[in-house]
Amino acid sequence: MRSRHWYDYLWVWSILFFVLGFFNILFAWLGMIDFLLPLALAAFGGNKFFCNSLCGRGQLFTVLGKQLKLSRYHSAPRWMASKWFRWGFLAFFLSMFASMVVQTYLVGAGAASLREAIKLFWTFRVPWDWAYTAGSVPEWVAQFSFGFYSLMLTSLLLGLIVMVLYKPRTWCSFCPMGTMTQGVCRWKAGKGQHDKISV
Ligand code: SF4
Repeated sequence: MRSRHWYDYLWVWSILFFVLGFFNILFAWLGMIDFLLPLALAAFGGNKFFCNSLCGRGQLFTVLGKQLKLSRYHSAPRWMASKWFRWGFLAFFLSMFASMVVQTYLVGAGAASLREAIKLFWTFRVPWDWAYTAGSVPEWVAQFSFGFYSLMLTSLLLGLIVMVLYKPRTWCSFCPMGTMTQGVCRWKAGKGQHDKISV
């Protein structure tokens, strides 16, 4: 049996992140680690070490779906893992991220007011004002927190839904971070080949 490492328990971090954000939305900034680290590891290491070993979310789906037997283990529709869906979902996800950044900018510039709410599935606005004390940080910092927490929670819920309906890590087949890191790894591998040829 493979010996356990500290990073096998990162699924706890995945839960803790949402608990912390429930009480203080500013903790949402910590989610940027999960956003930047996979890309940095893919860019410098050229591998998917993050997905394979460090992703608390992927581990959480395994714990819930496999160990707690919450998955029905049905096969997911084939289109869910298709190239067009993965890249299309990534494009959609990035456009939502960009709109969140624009909203943050508008609040920072004084052109829009802070919305102390989170948006689930990019549609349903849920009041979340207990998690922020007005004036404790510049408003744009708080606005980014609400937006980023919304994005993280929405993607977690989507992952949980497909985890229950299909297999534990079905989300990973179209996860935007997974698609991006895979793209970076492929680009790096291709670049390596190119460099070898041009030497
Ligand atoms: S594909 Fe996404 S959820 Fe799955 S392990 Fe990679 S980063 Fe985590």
